[in-house]
Amino acid sequence: MAEITTFSGNRGLQLEEPLIFEQGCPGRIGVDIAEPGPIDEDRLGGLARKGTIGLPDLSEPQVVRHYTRLSQKNYGIDSGFYPLGSCTMKHNPRLSEKMARLPGLVDLHPFQPRSTVQGALEVIDLLAHWLKGLTGMPAVAMSPAAGAHGEWCGLMAIRAYHDDHGDSQRTRVLVPESAHGTNPATAAMCGYSVDPVPATERGRVDVAALKAKLGPDVACIMVTNPNTCGLFEDEILDIAQATHEAGAFFYCDGANYNAIVGRVKIADLGVDAMHINLHKTFSTPHGGGGPGAGPTVLSEKLAAYAPLPFVVHGAGGLELVEHAEQAGGAKPFGRVKGYHGQFGVFIRALAYILSMGADGLRQTSGDAVLNANYLLASLKDVLSASFDGPCMHECLFDDRFLKDSGITTLDFAKMLIDEGFHPMTMYFPLVVHGALLMEPTETEAKETLDGFIAVIRALAAKAKAGEADDFKAAPRLTPRRRLDETQAARVPVLRWKHGANEG
Ligand SMILES: *Cc1c(COP(=O)(O)O)cnc(C)c1O
Repeated sequence: MAEITTFSGNRGLQLEEPLIFEQGCPGRIGVDIAEPGPIDEDRLGGLARKGTIGLPDLSEPQVVRHYTRLSQKNYGIDSGFYPLGSCTMKHNPRLSEKMARLPGLVDLHPFQPRSTVQGALEVIDLLAHWLKGLTGMPAVAMSPAAGAHGEWCGLMAIRAYHDDHGDSQRTRVLVPESAHGTNPATAAMCGYSVDPVPATERGRVDVAALKAKLGPDVACIMVTNPNTCGLFEDEILDIAQATHEAGAFFYCDGANYNAIVGRVKIADLGVDAMHINLHKTFSTPHGGGGPGAGPTVLSEKLAAYAPLPFVVHGAGGLELVEHAEQAGGAKPFGRVKGYHGQFGVFIRALAYILSMGADGLRQTSGDAVLNANYLLASLKDVLSASFDGPCMHECLFDDRFLKDSGITTLDFAKMLIDEGFHPMTMYFPLVVHGALLMEPTETEAKETLDGFIAVIRALAAKAKAGEADDFKAAPRLTPRRRLDETQAARVPVLRWKHGANEG
């Protein structure tokens, strides 16, 4: 196909524009403010600016268009299908957003007297109640700010328990090879050595290998369930029992909770600690869309070590325990975050939970698993499914279907961008070669999935037909095409210096 070029560099109504610093001309102004009169008293202690700070002089419409254009370059769940496996990119209900913007909640200050924030404490307490009820776990630490942060909170509680019981020789953490990178990173940050556990041909934890590695120096195991291959760890009870017999704890990475919410009580699986990504399962914006939250549920044994602060029911209403001395018999290991956690995310998650209800949440996981299996069943004759049988909330393929085509998983994904689809997760998990991990979530309509399936099938046929050059050239229709991603990540150019880009 011939390259399409234009005189302007624009592509249809998709406009190219210089950096905002390269626009405008000296003296152009968007607002008309009166010149300040002479200043007789220097109230800045001689620190007043002497030169200009180099902002461009622009009209208001230039500024508005610049930022509007930037916002349109941001592809998100509100723009289209986002099948990024492991990320649970589901719709964020507008109702939850509206609740999070209620003036009574959004205008709060963390230093306000308790008596004036009873409603806010109730939001935290009620959300905690639901998280404990859904998982069957007796306690929850609300303040971790993300999944990875929740892992860290859980492992800190585990370490505090072992230290408290004179068991400080436990220095090893077992982590399956398929784990999300945050798991080994968390264990290492807590000062543990990471011992990888291999996977079986069925894409699950090799239980025999795990048992062989258990010993008196193992602090805990970290197992994701459903795992990152989109499969339920069906030997989980056996794993939990062996772990406990060895005196170790079972940390469960709960990022994939969306596949089982309302159906499985986490406590029944023998879990001691698990983070819940509110921004995944309970549908609050994430990625470029905002912060997350990773409340961590804890078993009876670990509950006493939960970090500060936490909400308790006092004689005069809800109270916030912020200091170890007020914690009764508990032994909080410390604090993981300033203030009380990601309060805006709590409101959204609670609004989502209350609007869904217990029955709605149960349907969520059913529909998420149904949608993923619809993709799997509709694509497994043209792509190569990594494992036999049905999947949970995401389906995993590898690059065997591209064998001898000269096309890589990356090329295939770039081609999807030209077709108007955000690519799936690529090259993760690492246990299969050239992974393509797709998670449609329950919020996609069948027509959207059918459109995606049709495109993947057409691209797979094109790959089989040997049209590798087209794949290598993709994406062709985006404002920027193949970037040197390593350079962009390692040596990003984030600053514009006057004159540096000229000549
Ligand atoms: C998303 C995810 C995490 C990390 O969660 P963050 O909120 O991004 O820190 C950990 N494990 C798995 C399996 C995940 O999918």
